[in-house]
Amino acid sequence: IEVGASPDFTSEVATSGKVTSTKPFLAPWPATPLKSREKRWWRVRVETDLGWTGWSQPAAVEASLLENSDWVAKPISIASNAGKVERSPVPYLRREFLIAQPVREARLYVTSFGVHEVAINGSTVGQDLLEPGWTVYPDRLLFSSYDVTDLVGQGANAISGLVADGWFRGELTWMDQRGVYGDTTGLLAQLEITLEDGQRVIVATDETWRGSYGAMHLAEIYDGVDLDFRCEPQGWQRAGFNDVAWESAIALPMPNSLQPRISPAVQVIQVSPPYSIIRGKHVTRVDAGQNLAGYLRITVRGAAGDEVTVRHAELLDNGGRLHTLPLRHARATDKYILADDAPITLEPQFTFHGFRYAEIEAPASVVVETIEVVAVGSALDYTGSFECSNLSVNRLFQNALWSQRGNFVALPTDCPQRDERLGWTGDIQVFSETACFNADCRSFLSNWLIDLALEQRGDGNVTGVVPNVIKGHRFEYGGVGWGDAATLVPWALYQAYGDLGVLAKQYDSMKSWVDYCASRRNADGVWTGDFQLGDWLDPAAPADKPELATTDSDYVATCYLSYSAGRLGDAARLLSKNEDADRYTALSREVAGAAWRCWADHAVKTQTGCAMAIMFGIAPAETHPAIGLRLAEHVIRNNGKIATGFLGTPLILPALTATGQVEAAYLLLLNRECPGWLFQVERGATTMWERWDAINENGTLHSGTMNGGATASMISYNHYAYGAVAAWLYKTVAGIATDPEDPGYGTVIFAPQPGGGITRARASLVTPYGVTSTCWNSTPDGISVTIEIPAGAKGRFVAPAHFILDGDKSELAFGSGSHELTLYKHNTNVEKAA
Ligand code: BGC
Repeated sequence: IEVGASPDFTSEVATSGKVTSTKPFLAPWPATPLKSREKRWWRVRVETDLGWTGWSQPAAVEASLLENSDWVAKPISIASNAGKVERSPVPYLRREFLIAQPVREARLYVTSFGVHEVAINGSTVGQDLLEPGWTVYPDRLLFSSYDVTDLVGQGANAISGLVADGWFRGELTWMDQRGVYGDTTGLLAQLEITLEDGQRVIVATDETWRGSYGAMHLAEIYDGVDLDFRCEPQGWQRAGFNDVAWESAIALPMPNSLQPRISPAVQVIQVSPPYSIIRGKHVTRVDAGQNLAGYLRITVRGAAGDEVTVRHAELLDNGGRLHTLPLRHARATDKYILADDAPITLEPQFTFHGFRYAEIEAPASVVVETIEVVAVGSALDYTGSFECSNLSVNRLFQNALWSQRGNFVALPTDCPQRDERLGWTGDIQVFSETACFNADCRSFLSNWLIDLALEQRGDGNVTGVVPNVIKGHRFEYGGVGWGDAATLVPWALYQAYGDLGVLAKQYDSMKSWVDYCASRRNADGVWTGDFQLGDWLDPAAPADKPELATTDSDYVATCYLSYSAGRLGDAARLLSKNEDADRYTALSREVAGAAWRCWADHAVKTQTGCAMAIMFGIAPAETHPAIGLRLAEHVIRNNGKIATGFLGTPLILPALTATGQVEAAYLLLLNRECPGWLFQVERGATTMWERWDAINENGTLHSGTMNGGATASMISYNHYAYGAVAAWLYKTVAGIATDPEDPGYGTVIFAPQPGGGITRARASLVTPYGVTSTCWNSTPDGISVTIEIPAGAKGRFVAPAHFILDGDKSELAFGSGSHELTLYKHNTNVEKAA
């Protein structure tokens, strides 16, 4: 790797020299660390058995503002917007400036107390939405950096910004909290312009700015927007606007928690035409064809004062109306009032709705000319794919993927539609493995884990939601499965991407969570009596008490302690913390033994109990086949219906296939009755449901009741927890996974276990090494397979039971490249020989 101060690598060149490594990534930066604003170019060449390649094209990297002292800007607001927590109009802020020379380059560094959008000379800066996202603001307020060279010019310029309440001051949670982080929203922006002669001019937020209000009477994440275009000051974002009547800006205290953004921001991730549009006299009904997080973008023509209202819902009720009960207090409605008869494109800002259906209501005089469905989400690279011969399974896969898209919005949330949308730790804990198959989640989840550690209590306990905005609620600490996000999300990242860095960064947080759990054990070495959300939403639990699952939550708690202690021990070993490694590995074994002594009889009676005993290594290894058989019996006796909640669901199929119960696994996967994955598909789901019976067997909609009352309902149609099944589709139906001993796909394990009448499957992933894929097809005498292994990685193919590979082998090793394999059915000769 070479790093230089210019793209021709003639000055300040640093080199890594030849680095011998099996990993073509994660090589250390060979130059001195960058200082604020410093820019460097880098390139790489590689030596293989064919000799050296040429140099790559140079890539550039530029540091942001790294020191507090780099900031001359002050956060600003206007007095009329200060000290308010009630729903308020969105302040508009602006100032003009003169640039005397041509501009060489310009950068904008910006954040806010709220959610903001900045424009320079009327052009919006960047494509990011809902900036700066949601972090534990008092400890970490992220700012973004933009190249705005093209937006600034010689002469008169204007910079402007809008700051809506967002997560900072807007409504949060079903407890109707407002002003959680403060009662004054404000903007912090620093525009740095380098002129032709090298001089730097800084235009920063301060008291010279001016502010007022315009069309945006309301913009709330849960509620949507109220935009009255008759109130929009014309030209306010451009130079030459008369703002003498506007208020002077006031400076707010400078936060000491500024940090550069380290993960992708929220953006528009898809724009598509609706699946169907039904036009009525006053109401146009839109079916997006897909449940998603986003909004409608419509172009309308009407007259001044005409009102256009767009309401949203995830589904229609049994009477064909928008089913808004699941939204609880979220208004999920965008309202617009037109200023004139010119065509206008209407789309909301600073909000998103979880919806599939929408209704546009307007007077008959308003013509709705175009309608687009806009999906928003954190702009991750979604690079995983899966497909097989069973169309319902493919839809299930897509449903899990869309629940990820709709819930990876600034942070990993539970749902995108109701007055919640929180970073529930348990939901992402069970889904993180799937998430990392579907997309490059490295920076997104690492970013959130920093917040998790910041919210962690002194004694190591982990909050139910991160950021923690349910202080004092009885679910503030959700217990195991939720708290284990501290240990198991870093572990999932390490497995998927092979980067020890995340384990090193999270190590203290992981350890304090395990220490906390260990401290809760009683004299028998097991954990009993504490509140646990447990196997949440087990289908047999009372509808209004989802924590009362059939599998004892004390058993579940003790199992999770054992499993997390084991992964902590593994992490310690990898980080050369040998004492910890021995200690936590021993703790894991000891706790597993205690759990089994206490609950073996109970555990084997439930699907979750068996699955956890196998997958967390709670039961002694030699008993796993028998427990697997017991689990298969439960599934068969239940006609393939699932009986697990959030915590058992990701484990049950892996537990069945790990113990050779392939048929039962497919019976469970392919069951179409309630409860079951394909029941959801059968009922037209396009995302994963929160409850297995969100739509009942007879087609009625679950009331979502939580101790009665509509406002207490809990019924989302876009919750990814049960979508954790997708990891098994990749690993076992298609048959592609990393070797846990060589994480990040250093060794790709291809181990399909075909079944359920599925005749072909394929999957592909972008790993840190590059693309890997597999594609298998049943043939009259066996299976033909094509696998692809990226450069620098290795592969191992493991034949499914009853099949053999060339040379009568059950396993074959491969180097990088594309390989074709044939699997033969185990013939009688072989059986006889055996
Ligand atoms: C959320 C969850 C969460 C659960 C735990 C629900 O309101 O939507 O998915 O994990 O509460 O209490």
